[in-house]
Amino acid sequence: MDINRRTFALQMAGLAAAAAGIGTVEAAEHQHAVQLSADGWKLDADTKFRCGTCQFWGGMRKVADDKKQVVAVSLGWCNNPASPMYRALTAADHEMTKPGVWTKWGALS
Ligand code: SF4
Repeated sequence: MDINRRTFALQMAGLAAAAAGIGTVEAAEHQHAVQLSADGWKLDADTKFRCGTCQFWGGMRKVADDKKQVVAVSLGWCNNPASPMYRALTAADHEMTKPGVWTKWGALS
């Protein structure tokens, strides 16, 4: 199974777990666990250097009603040519370690 098929399978497993309740999915390309709830992955809206709050992340996400959290329900493509993860699928909690690359998502301004 290639990377894209494996990450897609992980994503589908995550969505199934989210639909079923609370669960944990290991994102293979990042080797760290993310916590899922029925609402998806939740990140504090003030979190910096994570894909879920980055302008360049192409995952399914929304700003929570209270505007204090970002709720993501999928992996997403990195669309930033300056990033080492450009065109790769990342989890919402993937940490951006390259200085000056993460850019705050415009919806959070
Ligand atoms: S890898 Fe970096 S530049 Fe790409 S979406 Fe994530 S935080 Fe943004």
